[in-house]
Amino acid sequence: MASQAEQTQGDTMGKIVSLCKRRGFIFQSSEIYGGLKSCYDYGPLGAELKRNIAAEWWRSMVYERDNIVGLDASIMMHPQVWQTSGHLAGFSDPLVDCLNCKERFRADKAPRAEPGSHAVFATGGKAGGQKQSATVTAKGYVCPNCGSPVLSDERQFNLMFRTALGPVDPLADLTKELAGQALSAEKIREMIEEAVRKTAVYLRPETAQAMFVQFLNVQQSMAMKVPFGIAQVGKSFRNEIVTEHFIFRSCEFEQMEMEFFCEPGSQKEWLEYWRKERMAWYHRFANSKDAFRLRQHAADELAHYSDDCYDIEYLYPWGWGELEGIASRTDFDLTRHAEASGVKLSYFDQQKNDPATGKPGWRYIPYVIEPAAGLTRSVLCFLADAYAEETGVDADGATKTRVLLKLHPRLAPYKAAILPLVKKDGQPEMAMDLVAQMRKLGLNVSYDDKQSIGKRYARHDEIGTPYCLTIDNDSLKDQTVTIRDRDTAKQERIAVAEAIAVVQRRLDGDV
Ligand code: ATP
Repeated sequence: MASQAEQTQGDTMGKIVSLCKRRGFIFQSSEIYGGLKSCYDYGPLGAELKRNIAAEWWRSMVYERDNIVGLDASIMMHPQVWQTSGHLAGFSDPLVDCLNCKERFRADKAPRAEPGSHAVFATGGKAGGQKQSATVTAKGYVCPNCGSPVLSDERQFNLMFRTALGPVDPLADLTKELAGQALSAEKIREMIEEAVRKTAVYLRPETAQAMFVQFLNVQQSMAMKVPFGIAQVGKSFRNEIVTEHFIFRSCEFEQMEMEFFCEPGSQKEWLEYWRKERMAWYHRFANSKDAFRLRQHAADELAHYSDDCYDIEYLYPWGWGELEGIASRTDFDLTRHAEASGVKLSYFDQQKNDPATGKPGWRYIPYVIEPAAGLTRSVLCFLADAYAEETGVDADGATKTRVLLKLHPRLAPYKAAILPLVKKDGQPEMAMDLVAQMRKLGLNVSYDDKQSIGKRYARHDEIGTPYCLTIDNDSLKDQTVTIRDRDTAKQERIAVAEAIAVVQRRLDGDV
């Protein structure tokens, strides 16, 4: 049975998923056809939230710094990129099939069990029939679905999506060649692989590689001096064996990555700098700062090319999980791409002496610090951080629960809602005039005259609108409005001009 804590966590996730659908944040992809597993569409408000998170990341990484510039690279790249980066050979997870319930899962994420101990499970799956027991093998894990240790061997499953580029059917000639031939399954497989490889391209599994292969173009066209960075926000694709927790792990997702090129020997210092910067960025927008932590990778967790790595983890409703990785990648990527392409991906510093010769001028391959964040995963993190329920008593003495999203005003889809109390007596006109003034200032505000004022407040609490500005009869007489704060539900009467300033102050404030 799930513990009470687990049930509460499960409930919170369920409530967030339901709010996302009900209020237009996130829908299941292709829902009318039964949905496509692990694919999601960001609805009107989800699209705003995601754009706002990406915009804040871009602002803090690119606009507020002289030494970081942006890039928007294509999703499909030359296949050699993935050969060189090691993704074609090594970007895979260990896939295992449960021989009892047929669950397919990742060996490295499966529940651990002592080799030689007895595992009890039900035949035919979790809800299946008779109890059975079997010995846990040297693998040291069991099926996450039914608990059985009776499993297939592990096989490496490459996570990249492969497709074909160009108006050619890679199988057309092969089909003719194979017709009527009696060949072994292995031989046919080999011939298919060979035919497909000729036109194969891959959907990028990370945005990072474009920053490495465009290093020289960016550095030269923008006259960048080391240390400098290249930042990118965009889609990435991984054919994940297990997709989980709503948008936490999906096959199509978005990343916000930055490659920071620095002098060899300075990487430790820059890694520390970026650890602090990135943590401070999350803290700036979050309500619960304690729900973020840094975890240093153990030596056996590090990729072979990395000399240090940290994860920023978030306490999701089901427990701690990765939100961003900050890796010190040495000069591995530029070195590999330089070797494979024959293009010198190095940097010449005229001001410095070469440490090897002591002579003026130093040519070196920069080292790289990579803060790699998930954009779609950040959407989930900020939704979980913002979700709150408050129980109180309404005017009639009934207990009521107020659901609200305490999103930071910069992340909130709407910065304010402008609400005429009634749809007459010049109130809609005055409200629309206020809306026009605020939109002119670049504020995304909502004009809302549907349903009772209480229902409108509740709706805007639930979608995270920080302020409701209500126009009533007095507003027309003395140019005042009621401003209601989402988090405290307190209302104040202030001048219209002041209301605009209050909304702007919160946006321009300490962020
Ligand atoms: P995980 O251990 O969760 O699989 P990872 O270490 O493979 O993540 P990275 O390759 O470091 O992830 O990617 C950087 C960031 O991209 C992650 O911290 C995460 O926020 C995001 N990310 C990676 N894979 C996915 C995915 N399948 N769905 C959503 N976001 C993802």
